[in-house]
This record gives sequence, C-alpha cells and structure tokens, in this order.
Amino acid sequence: MATKHKVMIMRCEDYDSEKISGIIKEGMEELDIRPTGRILLKPNVVIAHPEVFPHAFTRKEFLDGVISATKEKAENIREVAVGERSGITLPTRWNFKNAGYPEVLKKHRVKAYYFDEVKQVPMELRGKSNLRKNIFIPEPIAQTDFLINLPKFKAHPWCRLTLSLKNFIGIQDDRHRLVDHNIFLEHKIADLQEIIQPKFIAVDSIIAGQKMMLTPTPFPMGAILMGKNSCAVDTVGCHMVHVDPKDIIHLRYASERGFGPMNLEEIDVLGDFPLKEVQEKTRSFEICMEHIDSYFAGKSNLSCTVGTFPEKHSPDYCWGGCPGALQEAMHIFKGYYPNVNEEMKKVRYVVGKIAEPLELDDDEKVIFAGNCTSWEGTINGDHVKIKSSYKPPQEVDERKSKSNDMLLKTWKTLWSCFKQKNSRYIHAKGCPVSVGDHVHYLSAIAKIKNVNFDPRMLLPLNVAYWKMRTNRALNRLFG
Ligand code: SF4
Repeated sequence: MATKHKVMIMRCEDYDSEKISGIIKEGMEELDIRPTGRILLKPNVVIAHPEVFPHAFTRKEFLDGVISATKEKAENIREVAVGERSGITLPTRWNFKNAGYPEVLKKHRVKAYYFDEVKQVPMELRGKSNLRKNIFIPEPIAQTDFLINLPKFKAHPWCRLTLSLKNFIGIQDDRHRLVDHNIFLEHKIADLQEIIQPKFIAVDSIIAGQKMMLTPTPFPMGAILMGKNSCAVDTVGCHMVHVDPKDIIHLRYASERGFGPMNLEEIDVLGDFPLKEVQEKTRSFEICMEHIDSYFAGKSNLSCTVGTFPEKHSPDYCWGGCPGALQEAMHIFKGYYPNVNEEMKKVRYVVGKIAEPLELDDDEKVIFAGNCTSWEGTINGDHVKIKSSYKPPQEVDERKSKSNDMLLKTWKTLWSCFKQKNSRYIHAKGCPVSVGDHVHYLSAIAKIKNVNFDPRMLLPLNVAYWKMRTNRALNRLFG
C-alpha cells in the first residue's frame, strides 16, 4: 500500500512567536523535515499595511517563529533568507516594512530577497499541458536548495482559496506575473509547480482571511497547517473551510499533473486540532466567488455588464483577470473611504463581448475594461465601436512582456484618463487590467480620491519605490 501524505493541523490561538516556533519544531519532527543548504522562506506579503490591509499577509510573529525553528532544525546551512514579490506593482520592501518584517530579519540576521530587485531567469517547462515553454523566476528561487512556503490562509475572489499552490504567484516579478494572469490563471498556477516544490509548508491560519485577498475580513481560526506536499496541504485546507477540493481548479490541475493528492483518503491528517473540530469552528467562514454584475447590483453607484469571453474553458466569466481586479480595487477604495460605493459618481463597467445596447442613465459614465471587450452602439449620440484585441497565450511572448513599473503605469494611466476627460467612456486596455490600473481608472472616471496620493501612502511608497529602482539597477550592474 502506498504511503500516505502527512498533513498536520495544530492549535494556535495567538501570534506568540515562541509558541509558534515550538509548534513548527514539532511539525518538522513529525514530518521529518531537515532544512539544509540555501534555505529560502516564501511568505505571502501580497500587500501589507497596519491600518488598511492588516489581515492580508503572513504575520511577522509567524515568520519569526518559523525562522527560529528552521535555524534549530537545519544542518549545513549556507544561507537563510526570506523572499517575496508583493502584488499590484507596490515595492516589496514597502510591504515588508508595513508588515514589520525588518525587525524579524534583523533579529535573526537573515537576508531579504525582494524579487522585484533581483535578476529574473528563464526556466524551461516540459509538461505537456503547460501554457508556455519558458517561465521567468527570480534567481534566488532558481538557486535555493530548500524552499519553505509560508502562505496566509485566505479566501480568494478569483480562485476561491489561496493556500500553498496559489502562493507561488508571488514568486514572479510584475513584468512576468501578469502574463496569463487572466482567464488562464488556474493553468498558470499549476505550471509554476513544475519549477520547484516546497520542502516544507506552514500556513498562517491563526487569523485567516475571508472573502477578499487584499482586504480580507479576519476569521480567528486558531490553527497552523503544515505539510510537505502542496496539493495535500491545500486539500486539507479546503476541508477545513467546507470547500470541495475539486472546486479549486489549480489544485485539480496540479493533482492531475502528478504533483500530489486531492483526496483525503490519501492523506493522514495529524495534529492536536481534529479536522472535525476545525470544521465546527468554521461553519460561518465566508468565501466570495460572485460575478461582479450581481456582486455590485443595488449596493453601489457602480454597475456591471458582463458579456462572454474568448476561451472555451470559461466562456461565461473570466475568473483570473479584470472582473476580480475590479472587486479588489473597489475594496481598496473602501478601506480608505468607507462610503465610496454611495459617494462615487455613477459608472457602468463593461467587460467581455457584449451584443446588446447598454441603456445608460444620463449621468452614467462607462469603463470598457480589458482587451477582450467588444461593443458597438451609441453613447451621447456618437457611434462608438470597441474592438477586441485579445490574444491567446500562444500569441503572447513572455520574453517581450511589457514593464509593469509602478510609476510608469501610474503616469500612463493618468495620461490616458486626462486625454479622455471630456468623454463619457474610457477603454482600459490590458489582459488583465491590473488592480492598480483599476484604481486609477475608477478614480478618474468616478471622481474618487486616488488612494495612491493618500498621505499614508505617498511619501513612504515613493521612498521605497526609488530604493527599489536603485537596488534593481545595482543588482543588474554588479549582481
Ligand atoms: S481582457 Fe480581462 S476579462 Fe478579458 S480575458 Fe483578459 S483578463 Fe479576462
């Protein structure tokens, strides 16, 4: 009989780094983990801010506890480092600072690899089902001997849940991260597993996140989830919150490609927090997988018209791209301006191929979002034709992907909004249109204050941006 994968669920009610370290050590012993060589810890710091985004990231106490345990259990250490690429083009060093990581790194004397500052190298993909033959990753990922994956347990509006497999999206820098981050997102997550497998996974499930991934509602789950195989860990994670693993498409793809199980019968669930008891506790855990047209209906001055999409595997919705980015952007605004849904000007958001008239209110403006969107009709008496410029993955060359530099994108988007300031509509191009771009477009057309210019962001974010640019240049020259 084949040996079962072991996954542990341990009780942990609070962010006490010593206690966390003890639990991680116990997990490493049970799972027979011996970190060695170049050890790289990959947390989830997609975004972090103590006031606005307090529950989106792997907490510093968790990182602290895992580093202590790793150092005690490791042998023949060549390096211990923490590496990550944050989301929505924000400099990773800015998010690390907001997350309180620098003090932890200093305490343990470990290095930070900000993946937006290091060299990106191509890796060949050989699997038959892969979207492309090469994928770019940061050099420290390519060079590591022992990857430790430290996701945050969160619901996700595009993929239902983000656990171990999905945390790999954060290994790519912006230029490459948005390639296939669209209707093919689930395929891309499965492709990334071919590059490297984590040798240990510890999921920060002490306070889990519900509904959104950037602005989740906290859920005190009081658990640490550990294992050696991403599929096995994610399968148990699904059952912890009443999700059928088959509904996590990237888990299904990864399992079908032989990366691990998605069936509880192939997993030994161990630890001091029985799965049944966790399930009792999480009966009210909220997941948000809702189409944007119904999500915003009647609750906002934003309304959405959703059409059809160009790929056979998902003709009725694009789960990995523009619609989810719109939801996240609106939640970011809500974090800064709680009444944004009522105070914003009326906007119709149009995505996909639309054959019907839009029937706009007199004071309603329009965002046509994404390269796949097409529509023809009359606005303000003028004939308007929006043409699709969507390209399938085989026509997108990942080596020629455009820069997604934060400042460049900000100015490009703001300039495009300025040029169209007297028009009732904007066509926001991209596949996807990123969360950051959504913030700019919505801000311009719906007259919402742009959060990028909020005093809490402006100065520290720009300082971090220029440090990032300087270090990136130095790494290119001397790295
Ligand atoms: S343009 Fe946007 S909605 Fe259309 S396929 Fe690309 S990511 Fe999806």
